[in-house]
Order: sequence, then C-alpha cells, then structure tokens
Amino acid sequence: MAVPKLELRPLGNTGLKLSSVGFGASPLGSVFGPVSESDAVASVREAFRLGINFFDTSPYYGATLSEKMLGKGLKALGVPRNEYIVSTKCGRYREGFDFSAERVTKSIDESLERLQLDYVDIFQCHDIEFGSLDQIVNETIPALQKLKEAGKIRFIGITGLPLDTFTYVLDRVPPGTVDVILSYCHYSINDSTLEDLLPYLKTKGVGVISASPLAMGLLTEFGPPEWHPASPELKSACQAAAVYCKEKGKNISKLAMQYSLSNKDISSVLVGMNSVKQVEENVAAATELALFGKDHETLAEVEAILKPVKNQTWPSGIQRS
Ligand code: NAD
Repeated sequence: MAVPKLELRPLGNTGLKLSSVGFGASPLGSVFGPVSESDAVASVREAFRLGINFFDTSPYYGATLSEKMLGKGLKALGVPRNEYIVSTKCGRYREGFDFSAERVTKSIDESLERLQLDYVDIFQCHDIEFGSLDQIVNETIPALQKLKEAGKIRFIGITGLPLDTFTYVLDRVPPGTVDVILSYCHYSINDSTLEDLLPYLKTKGVGVISASPLAMGLLTEFGPPEWHPASPELKSACQAAAVYCKEKGKNISKLAMQYSLSNKDISSVLVGMNSVKQVEENVAAATELALFGKDHETLAEVEAILKPVKNQTWPSGIQRS
C-alpha cells in the first residue's frame, strides 16, 4: 500500500499551506530534558524529509537555545528558503515580558540572527495574557505591521492559553491585521475547548495552529516535566490513561496525535519533538490516521478515564476582573 504524503492544510487567508503535523522546537531548547546539537539537527532533517514544512520556536525556549538549534537544523537542510515555514515569537524572554514596540522591533533582528534567516513567515506575540491586551492592540501589533512592510516577517500572530484573550484582541484590531492564532493545550483528548472558537476564527479569516497535542507531556508514557502546571488530579488521570493504553498494547501519544489531527479546521498540530524517533512516530500517527481512521474503541475508553477532568485547565497570565 502506498504511504500517503503528510497533508498540507491552508492557514486562514495567508496563502500558506502548513503540514498537518508541525515541528514544535521548544524541546530543542532542552525544555523537556537535555538535547544534543546532533540530535536537534537530525530531528529537523528527518522532519523535513518526512514532509513537515512548519517549524515553530521562540526566544523564550531555553533562553534562545531553541532558536539557535533550529537555525542550525534548517541551515543544514540546504534547501531553498521557500520550502519551509518558520514561526517565532516576541514579547516573552528569560528576563520577563515586554510587548513594547521598541522591544519587539529589536526582537525580530535578534531572532533572525539566531535562526540564520532573512525573514520569518509568522511572528507572534508570545503569551499575550501576561501583557496588557490594550498594548498588544494599540502598540505591539502596529509595530509588527511595520516589520511586515519592511519584509522581515510575512504574517502576524498571537499566542496564549486563555481563549478569551484571542477574541479580545481580534474584536479590536482591523480585519486582516492578525493573520494567525496559536492556541495550546486546548485541543487534546483531555481538553477540546478550542473547538467552540473555531467558527468565530473562520469568520474572521484567522488561521489556527493548535499546539501541545500531548498536553505538554501529560499524554505520554514518560509523563510531564516537573514544571507542568496541571493539577495533581489532572496529572494522575492522564497517567492512568497512559497506563491503560500501554496495558492494552496501545500508545497514548499516537491516540492523542490522531485526535488533534482529525479536525481539519486546525491547519497544523504543533508537537514538540527532540528525537528522530519521535518525529517518525508522530508522522506515522498522521499517516495511519489517513489510511485507517481513528481508533474509536480505545479513544472512547480513554475519554471515559479522562471524563472527570475533561476541559480542566490552569490559570495563566495576569488575572483580569
Ligand atoms: P507537546 O504536547 O507537543 O508535548 C511535547 C512533549 O512530548 C515533549 O516532551 C516531547 O519530547 C514529547 N513527545 C513528542 N512526541 C512524542 C511521542 N511520539 N511519544 C512520546 N513523547 C513524545 O507540548 P509542547 O512541546 O509544549 O508543544 C508543542 C510546540 O508548540 C512547542 O514546542 C512550541 O513550539 C509550541 N507551543 C507554543 C506555545 C505558546 O506559544 N504559548 C505554548 C505551548 C507550545
């Protein structure tokens, strides 16, 4: 049987076509444990070879290490720049948050140098819930528009955890100003609240990237990193689901990837990867989904285990009244 190619999906009104599986480069900043340069470069190479064309990073991941590693990996590909799509972010740094026009304007030059690129495809305000949303609307996004005009970035995005921050900003900027939103931990088996926002985003013509299909490690056999913000109840329910799958000869991460990939209104499912093995497993999850569909039986069983914690999240950002 011929192996289907990784699907390309349109991203809102951008004209970009992103691979359904996107490469999340935060693990290349050793955020989930140490990663060698050779493993980082090999993971990027394998991802591109298997049809992944979308790579996401931030100066915040590993205090700039992720951008540097991704830059090395992309350069080593030795392919024309228009064959891959890169997003990075601004406003969140090891030192803290700064969404001022001055800082984000400087930020793009620093990121381009670390990434060894002349431009990025998508430049995103990173975790806007930690800033003033009115500053994002009135100062940060206008500054990013100037970077667009200067050719340093092609499209503008916003990222964050609480979904209402997206609507706050999108209701206040001129149409077509924000091209993309990146949501995380809201379209996984344990939390699918992003689904309710998809019709609104479609009417706005905004592209949707959904990150963290494995709920930042909760939906893996290995389990989450020590810094994971989930409640003990959510962590133990996910662990029980992972153990259940393992005992049944199934893999919770594959099930989780396939769950997230099934919704085609999501342009790319951004999964963090730090090894060739993980790249191969996650691409295989997409390929098997295209060939055989979802594993409905195991999914229903896992959903039953996670039912008591369904859609449970955690606080993030400045508490607004
Ligand atoms: P994730 O849910 O993708 O989980 C990543 C973890 O799962 C890592 O430990 C990784 O090594 C492991 N993993 C990956 N594939 C696996 C497999 N097949 N089997 C077992 N374990 C596997 O979480 P994430 O990395 O936080 O999110 C993905 C990407 O999305 C990030 O790298 C980043 O690029 C982006 N992101 C952005 C934001 C934001 O902008 N605020 C937030 C979260 C994530």
